[in-house]
Amino acid sequence: MEKIILTGDRPTGRLHVGHYVGSLRGRVALQNSGDYDKVYIMIADAQALTDNAEHPEKVRQNIIQVALDYLACGLDPEKSTIFIQSTIPELAELTFYYMNLVTVSRLQRNPTVKAEIKMRDFETSIPAGFLAYPVSQTADITAFHATAVPVGEDQLPMLEQCKEIVHKFNTVYGETLTEPEIILPDNAACLRLPGIDGKAKMSKSLGNCIYLSDEPEEIKKKIMSMFTDPNHLRVQDPGKVEGNPVFIYLDAFCRPEHFQEFLPEYSCMDELKAHYQRGGLGDVKVKKFLNNVVQAELAPIRERRKAWEQRIPEVYEILKKGSEEARKAAARTMQDVRHAMQIDYF
Ligand code: ATP
Ligand code: MG
Repeated sequence: MEKIILTGDRPTGRLHVGHYVGSLRGRVALQNSGDYDKVYIMIADAQALTDNAEHPEKVRQNIIQVALDYLACGLDPEKSTIFIQSTIPELAELTFYYMNLVTVSRLQRNPTVKAEIKMRDFETSIPAGFLAYPVSQTADITAFHATAVPVGEDQLPMLEQCKEIVHKFNTVYGETLTEPEIILPDNAACLRLPGIDGKAKMSKSLGNCIYLSDEPEEIKKKIMSMFTDPNHLRVQDPGKVEGNPVFIYLDAFCRPEHFQEFLPEYSCMDELKAHYQRGGLGDVKVKKFLNNVVQAELAPIRERRKAWEQRIPEVYEILKKGSEEARKAAARTMQDVRHAMQIDYF
């Protein structure tokens, strides 16, 4: 069986470091590993419209922002097919048929959708398309026979739902679709990076992000204003490391060589954490270290992004080419689906 990756992002804003550690960094590694026959990366504009129907200009503008972030992080159009979801009508068509294989109550039980509804104050006015977006995500995944979907932890319920729909489809209509596996980051700190405000998830919609395209000064300002342990008031107080966003970010970004480079009086993370826990280590010092670590990681990304910003027509060309190629693959699956469902009349 071919090994195929599908993943993507909603063009609702520029990408942030939560995307980077939760999915983007891993994707680039998978792309470069040579272990996969195909890598599809989708800019999910149709999905973004499910909760931005009244702001089409926002979605349109962010397509290019997300594409720039991709290229900046090292996604390579020679190795990965980067495409725009809405250019592939087969994805909407598949969604329409999959919708019959899932109940409304099952959609309402999806914990990530539930949390997102709450966050958006949608309780009494949920767009039907938003409630059903896990079905459209199933269409995206199965259209390409994806075997692996590298995403953040919030996507676990989506993959569960996808597998259920695939199973139902194959049971009712015969073996047609491929069941995907989720690939989560192996570093626990990267599963769901909290916001700089300490909220459970860094999210474009919450405005608590460090963006990949932020300038160095902006990044420093955000890091120095980050939440830490609220009871760690004086330097000599013992501090908590668990749930402390600054240490979670360090766990996500810090490599052993960063100590030598930026904080040579400590040899490793355990030593730094132990000092913080017993007291005597101030937040400012830890934040300065975190700032150096994050700046080191983001500087080359920002540089590459600036270079691509000078080549916008080329970026659109990449998206066009990728979309054409992806459409061909989705059309093949659509044919098989029509055949299996006995709706291939002529
Ligand atoms: P929105 O608020 O519009 O939903 P978002 O910031 O949640 O935007 P998505 O486009 O929904 O971003 O998510 C894209 C990918 O990034 C998904 O794989 C998701 O799991 C991952 N991701 C998003 N936020 C985080 C985070 N804070 N930590 C780890 N992974 C994340
Ligand atoms: Mg999201």
